[in-house]
Amino acid sequence: MIPKSTVYNAPYPRSYGNEFTLFDHGKGCYIWDVEGKKYLDLGSGIAVNTLGYGREDLAKAAYDQMKKIVHTSNLYTSEATLLVADKLTSFGNFAAVHFGNSGTEANEAAIKFARLYAKRKKGEGHHKIIAFENAFHGRTVGALSCTYNPHYKDDCQPLMPGVEFLPYNDVETLKKTVDGTYAAIIVEVIQGEGGLKCMTKEFAKALNEVCAQQDVILIADEVQTGLTRTGYPFASGLVDLNPDIITLAKPLAGGLPLSATLIPMKINEILQPGDHGSTFGGNPVACAVANLMLETLFFPPFIFEVQAKGEYLKKKIEELKAKFDCIGEIKGAGMLRGFEVNTPAGYEGDLSKDLIAECKANGVLVLRSGTNVIRLAPPLIISEKEMDEGFEIIAKSLKNKLNK
Ligand code: PLP
Repeated sequence: MIPKSTVYNAPYPRSYGNEFTLFDHGKGCYIWDVEGKKYLDLGSGIAVNTLGYGREDLAKAAYDQMKKIVHTSNLYTSEATLLVADKLTSFGNFAAVHFGNSGTEANEAAIKFARLYAKRKKGEGHHKIIAFENAFHGRTVGALSCTYNPHYKDDCQPLMPGVEFLPYNDVETLKKTVDGTYAAIIVEVIQGEGGLKCMTKEFAKALNEVCAQQDVILIADEVQTGLTRTGYPFASGLVDLNPDIITLAKPLAGGLPLSATLIPMKINEILQPGDHGSTFGGNPVACAVANLMLETLFFPPFIFEVQAKGEYLKKKIEELKAKFDCIGEIKGAGMLRGFEVNTPAGYEGDLSKDLIAECKANGVLVLRSGTNVIRLAPPLIISEKEMDEGFEIIAKSLKNKLNK
């Protein structure tokens, strides 16, 4: 019998596949499907629900704001929106925030701002953008053009011209390539969808240097890594990267759609009314929730706690690796970590893919990154006990698959 909690052939585009689990509610790090099965969510709805499910405080902030005003448009503004902009610009040298609704939109805005700056400061022909192999920046045309995986984009070609891909963490190629004709470099500090590779400090230093020397706008895509996921308010702090622009989204409004593109004064100065905009960006309800999120996510004792939890998560992965030969390199940083799962000779199928399904069957949700990396991005409120529980189930699931 097909359980009610699995929905087949929903009227969604086939690009989402045709099988969905129907979830009902969540509390803390757990989520329940409509038949009452409980799951420990080690993926946070793809790095979004960082303060967990079922938050009365966030729900109240949204409800209170909805009663006051739901939408103003960008012709006007709201107190909640102003407060979020103030909080975000208080970090680093940011002069302004462009609000959007998703990570890809935050990157579209960044690309446009960089090109507007390059054209108005340096003149015609300075539009080229550098992105990196295995990068993921989103699925709208500009951001997709900066995304590496051909699977996502090849049949949509031609996309936005002027994007070049360089090998990630390759200082020599970067230095040889970048000159003043480029508008921007867009980069992730940890390649969230591309196998959780971390930027080296040497590469961050080289990026800082070449961008400053050539007046090329350095865009850090922190859609997945930002807002304390790595134990730093922005993951750029992990490796001392000094971006001109930071893009944020996923956890910003606790699960409501909101993104931010933080820009410096030198870009803000060249912008003119009408250069960019968004009907829903900076929505007061999303911002009322974001205000509460940021109060927690930027609170220093909370940040220290996340750093300690990140170390515990690493220890748990190391223990797992010690038990299973099929586990390869440990990847990521802070609370965005993972491990390679190599399919042993003689195993029929793809062990990493099967492991994700087996974990789910056993009540733990995990994510994939790249081809064979199991990605863990738990809610930042998770306890050590809950991590222990999760790893017990991951180990049991791996055993089940290997002994099948
Ligand atoms: N950039 C990065 C680094 C991401 O991880 C993602 C989504 O996974 C995006 C951009 C796109 O965000 P969205 O799906 O909200 O458009």
